[in-house]
Amino acid sequence: MGATIPTNYVADRVWTTQGWAGDVRMSIDDRGYLTSTASGEAERLGHWVLPGMPNLHSHAFQRAMAGLAERKGRSDDSFWTWRETMYAFAAAIGPDELKAIAAQLYVEMLKSGYTQVCEFHYLHHQPDGTPYAQPEAMSLALIEAAREAGITLTLLPVLYMSGGFDGRPLTPRQRRFGHDLPSYLRLLETLQKYENEKLRVGIALHSLRAVPEDAMRNVLASDAAKSCPIHIHIAEQLGEVQDCLATRGARPVEWLLDHADVDARWTLVHATHLSAGETSRLARSGAVAGLCPTTEANLGDGLFPLADYLDAHGTLGVGSDSHISVSPVEELRWLEYGQRLSSCHRNIAARRQGDSVGETLWPAALRGGALASGLPIGELRAGARADLLVLDDRAALLAARDEHAVIDSFLFAGNAPLVRDVMVGGEWVVRHFVHRDEERIAARYRSTMERLAQR
Ligand code: ZN
Repeated sequence: MGATIPTNYVADRVWTTQGWAGDVRMSIDDRGYLTSTASGEAERLGHWVLPGMPNLHSHAFQRAMAGLAERKGRSDDSFWTWRETMYAFAAAIGPDELKAIAAQLYVEMLKSGYTQVCEFHYLHHQPDGTPYAQPEAMSLALIEAAREAGITLTLLPVLYMSGGFDGRPLTPRQRRFGHDLPSYLRLLETLQKYENEKLRVGIALHSLRAVPEDAMRNVLASDAAKSCPIHIHIAEQLGEVQDCLATRGARPVEWLLDHADVDARWTLVHATHLSAGETSRLARSGAVAGLCPTTEANLGDGLFPLADYLDAHGTLGVGSDSHISVSPVEELRWLEYGQRLSSCHRNIAARRQGDSVGETLWPAALRGGALASGLPIGELRAGARADLLVLDDRAALLAARDEHAVIDSFLFAGNAPLVRDVMVGGEWVVRHFVHRDEERIAARYRSTMERLAQR
């Protein structure tokens, strides 16, 4: 496909790390990377062009249960009761189902403006815990789904060893998530052989409660961990913070910072519950706070200390996690609105007079998401991948908007999607709001869901 598309483009306005730039020419090489600008014929891209947003946290299979856990059960409904629904649902999903669900999800991600996804993948084995004949079968289903949809994938196979901070064994429902250390390192090594321009492999530690200290140390010391991204669920729940304090004598983020060389290769997903000291230490570490505001709201997790973290120059990115929403716009909107609701003030992410909330949060999430992905994305400059969004300049919402208002209008006004075209690695995957293979992928998703519903 690379040979048939023009390699020179021109855009009226392109979002850069310095803000909007005008009349920008871009050239793309046959590997899908931007090169220094060449002269000659160029196709016009559109008026407003933005880097595509990385999605730093996804459990693809959970998309298929979105909306199935909103009916009141026990009076103390919480993350932990939701988790039981999720476990029951996961038990019905094998490689074919996972591929069908993930491909549909990835099409939806692309259409909403995500051009890359970090898949925090723990559904490794058969439902009874027995490995598949090909142990990486479920990982391959995700790789294949991403290839079909045309989204860039950072695959993060998850190490999950125990059912709590006390080291208790996995429950029967958790067994399909589990590995011992040698089998986990084998899986990592196998998956690293599949790496290419659109696939990066990294490490995920499920959480401090699921990975004992010595296992964490051994994984981080392994050859496989030398240069890849490292993700962990860290402090999503107050119960988790209390258990960590009781068993390890420190809060989760504090404990991790004390026991691992946490730096910009790390993404701490749901760094929700932070003390003031943890907030400034995490910011100084250069690690990415992985925030999933719609899921965190849906699960009643709590609120991240956004203002203090931004004041400490912390790095953040967003993920759609359980996929009750699939839209970077909604994640960033909720990130800001949660803070407004709890503080009774406006424009929280904008820390200085005259700053824009959208122009603070969108580039922050581009930068943090790119770090989390381990890929040269999130910026439209020579040497980066050509992953970009073209906004619908005919949308009523953008009529007469000047440069200073476009990103705020994109994030805070309206509900119709403004993302008209999407390019990933130099290839168009969405044009005029339509994904190149969406009908086939949606039909397969529907028949898969009908089959699952009959079980
Ligand atoms: Zn998660």
